[in-house]
Amino acid sequence: MELSLEGKVALVTGASSGLGANFAKALARSGASLVLAARRLDRLEALRDELATLGTTVGVVAMDVTDTASIAAGLDAAASELGTIDVVVNNAGVSTAQPALDVSDEDWSFVIDTNLTGCFTVAREAAQRLKTAQHGGSIINIASITGLRPAGALVHYASAKAGLIHMTKVLALEWARYGIRVNAICPGYIETDINREFFATDAGAALVRRIPQRRLGQPDDLSGALCLLASDASAYMTGSVISIDGGHLCSSL
Ligand code: NAD
Repeated sequence: MELSLEGKVALVTGASSGLGANFAKALARSGASLVLAARRLDRLEALRDELATLGTTVGVVAMDVTDTASIAAGLDAAASELGTIDVVVNNAGVSTAQPALDVSDEDWSFVIDTNLTGCFTVAREAAQRLKTAQHGGSIINIASITGLRPAGALVHYASAKAGLIHMTKVLALEWARYGIRVNAICPGYIETDINREFFATDAGAALVRRIPQRRLGQPDDLSGALCLLASDASAYMTGSVISIDGGHLCSSL
C-alpha cells in the first residue's frame, strides 16, 4: 500500500513552531502540498521558504483555532488556493503547569478552549467541507500520553487531551460513512524549545530516567506515524490512538 503523500493537500494548525513545523516538514518530504495555519503569518515565512526549497507547494493561512470564523475563512482560503484539503493535523495547543487548586477559571478556559474545543471546531469545519465535496479525508489529532495516564499539575491540559482522545473515537464512528478517518497521536515527552531547559535540570533528568528507553523523544520520532495516518496506507485505520513515548506509558508502577 502507498505511503506516498503525492497529490495530497495537508493543513497543519499551529505550524509556526515546535512539533507543528516538524509535522509540516515530514508531510512535505513525503510529497504532500502544505497549508501552514497559524495566528501570525509573519512567523510562517521562514518555514514556507524552507519547504519551498524542497519543491513543495505551500500556502499560508491565518487561523486562530478558538475562533470559528477564522477557522472557516482559513479552510476556504486554503481550498481556493490549493484545492480540497485531504489531511488536517490538529496540532495547535497550549499548556500551563499548575496544581489543580491554583487553576483559575481563566486558566481552565484558556487550555480547554484551545486544546479541546479548538480541535473539535477545526475537525467539524473541515469535515463539513469534505462531506459537501464528497471527498474523503484524514484528520489527525495531536493528543498526549497525559490524556491516557495522570500527571500532576496538568489537570486542564490532561483533561483536554483525554477529551480529545475520546472525541477522536466518536468522530471516527460518525464520519466513517463519509470516508473521513479520524485518528490520534499521543506523544510522550518530546524535546522542543519550550521544554529543553527543564529537561536539562535534575528534575528533568529524573523524569527521563522513568522512560523505559531512557531518552526524550525527538520531533522526528512522530513523523512515521503521522505520515502513515495521513496516507492511504492507513485506509482501514480510524478511531485509532497511537502512543509514541519510548515506552513511558508502560513504565513500572
Ligand atoms: P508549541 O507551543 O511549540 O506549539 C504549539 C503551537 O500552537 C504554537 O505554534 C502556537 O502558536 C499554536 N497555537 C496556540 N494557540 C493557538 C490558537 N488559538 N490558534 C492557532 N494556533 C495556536 O508546542 P509543541 O510542543 O510543538 O506542541 C504541539 C502540540 O503537541 C500541542 O497540541 C501539544 O499539546 C502536543 N504535545 C506536545 C508534546 C511535547 O512534548 N512537546 C507532548 C505531547 C503533546
